[in-house]
Amino acid sequence: AQERYAGLRGLPAEAKCGTVVSLHMNAGLIAELPSLEGSGADGVGLFRTELQFLARNKVPKRSELAAIYSRVLDAAQGKRVVFRTLDIGSDKVLPYMKREEEPNPALGWRAIRVGLDKVGVMRMQLQALLRAANGRPLTVMFPFIAQFDEFRMARQHLLDEVERERKLGHPLPEKLEIGAMLETPSIAFAPRQFFEMCDFISIGGNDLKQFFFAADRENERVRRRYDSLNVSYLTFLQQIVERCNATGTPVSFCGEDAGRPIEALALTAMGLRSLSMRPASIGPVKHLIRRVDLSDARRVIDAARESGDQSVRGAVMEWLRTVG
Ligand code: PEP
Ligand code: MG
Repeated sequence: AQERYAGLRGLPAEAKCGTVVSLHMNAGLIAELPSLEGSGADGVGLFRTELQFLARNKVPKRSELAAIYSRVLDAAQGKRVVFRTLDIGSDKVLPYMKREEEPNPALGWRAIRVGLDKVGVMRMQLQALLRAANGRPLTVMFPFIAQFDEFRMARQHLLDEVERERKLGHPLPEKLEIGAMLETPSIAFAPRQFFEMCDFISIGGNDLKQFFFAADRENERVRRRYDSLNVSYLTFLQQIVERCNATGTPVSFCGEDAGRPIEALALTAMGLRSLSMRPASIGPVKHLIRRVDLSDARRVIDAARESGDQSVRGAVMEWLRTVG
């Protein structure tokens, strides 16, 4: 199937209307980085850093992490890599970290909540990232931000580490971008100043969808009940994009839906211009985007929203059959 899209590798995801969507890949291992070349991705839109913590029986050393992150940056050859800080808890539990049983782990002590409570671990990871960058541009993203202060505090920890590196005489990143994942509904309604403070925002659709519909993403019985092309959800995403656009905050989408062509099309119709997905999805998503006019897609979706349908999927599929 990959060969089928090989011819698209060097071509942009440019829709018929001329709009270009940038397509990035998700990764979590150095071994996946060769896909950057193979898939034609514009960069790594989400580098999940959990695996290096999960594959050990104790917290990894700063030097070990720095060596790994440095190799990731080497392999990316100047393409942007968005490093997401440790996102543990919920479905990803560290065997060596003591934690209490939680009745609802997805709503529990996870991600940035752990980071801000166990500041030593987060600071160590931030130091490792700064050392790995060794003067190169660095992009850091904090997961699961549910209120402004969490981002403000996490960002300050990073800025403090930068200051520490400066005092130690170590090279500082040529450029430092600090962003937040938008994966809880609350942060979509944060003060404007939150959006202004973020160098970029990445919508984590996997978590955002589970909280928006109150449907556990790990529970097969409920997770497929709510269509990603549900009218309420698409309208919510559209509003998030509009808020980001109002402050000029670059916004992208990195949940699994970005890698599903019809979903990716709906996301771009809602205004998203940057998507991050599994490398194997880049070809199929690009193929579909290049076939369509995004303003037509938007018109079809808007009409379906007006019609009272619960999902726009039927209307989009019907329209796609008429597209060459
Ligand atoms: C998400 O929630 O959409 C996301 C990209 O992060 P993860 O799947 O690692 O929770
Ligand atoms: Mg998530």
